[in-house]
Amino acid sequence: MKKREFLKSLGLLTAGGVVSSAVNPASAASLMSSPAAKKQIGLQLYSLGKELTDDVPEGLKKVAKIGYTNAEAAGYRDRKMYGLDVTEIKKMADDAGLKMSGSHVNPPVRKYSKDNKAEIADFWKAAVEDHAKLGVTTLVQPGMPQVETESDVALVAEIFNNAGEAAKAAGIKWGYHNHSHEFERVSKDGDNSKKGGVFYDMVLNGTDPSLVFFEMDVYWTVMGQCDPLEYFAKYPGRFPVLHIKDRKVLGQSGMMNFENIFTKAYENGLDEFFVELEGIRNGMTQFEGVKECFDYLNKAKFVK
Ligand code: MG
Repeated sequence: MKKREFLKSLGLLTAGGVVSSAVNPASAASLMSSPAAKKQIGLQLYSLGKELTDDVPEGLKKVAKIGYTNAEAAGYRDRKMYGLDVTEIKKMADDAGLKMSGSHVNPPVRKYSKDNKAEIADFWKAAVEDHAKLGVTTLVQPGMPQVETESDVALVAEIFNNAGEAAKAAGIKWGYHNHSHEFERVSKDGDNSKKGGVFYDMVLNGTDPSLVFFEMDVYWTVMGQCDPLEYFAKYPGRFPVLHIKDRKVLGQSGMMNFENIFTKAYENGLDEFFVELEGIRNGMTQFEGVKECFDYLNKAKFVK
């Protein structure tokens, strides 16, 4: 590689020439050996749908080749991951050079009750065991339980705390991912007026911050007519992981202020985020779409 290309590949060559620190070969060498120079950008693998599940090992390699460093799985069912043993998926991710850092998992029941609490606890115990083998740092429930009243929400918070405790014992952080219905009010006990608390706030207040974190999906929060920034300010430290999603490819709808979101999220303790892209209908493949999303964040100055 010629020197000019080499410097360019390090991001040290500007329009005007070489950035001054690169003149010193020692500092150039130290930059070269520092893997932290690469942005840590995650992908929720659900974004790829069938384009991934048709050939998981090849798909994971393509994800890493785009430049994504981390992935969040969405294929855990019947104690298998994408139909395979979790240790096989771990090996495929390792081979691709991708860190499988998280996973989305829903328990088998949507309506929680005193009668199925034990069944849900058993489910999480097994899921935690499997995900410890996968080597994830986060385990996240993406589906909203069915709730009508404030008592239902209190039971959800209790069950979330228990799941968080089981995960914590294995060194995994347990979290909850929202869509838009979480921002609606439930009913007070004994009526159906929908004039009780807001589900999302009740669960934030009803769970132990040392056991349950919140992976805010910023797009679905906006679709729920709420402002992610207000939640960051109101519940500091509760949103260490985000889903970065837009109506289509990131940055193209004009409805998401990602610069403000990232700026405030970092101040609020953001440690990881995952791009999410739903089905595209304009002739682009999902892989092409997730590449455009990556390029958007990789170029954005507000993403560290
Ligand atoms: Mg999401």
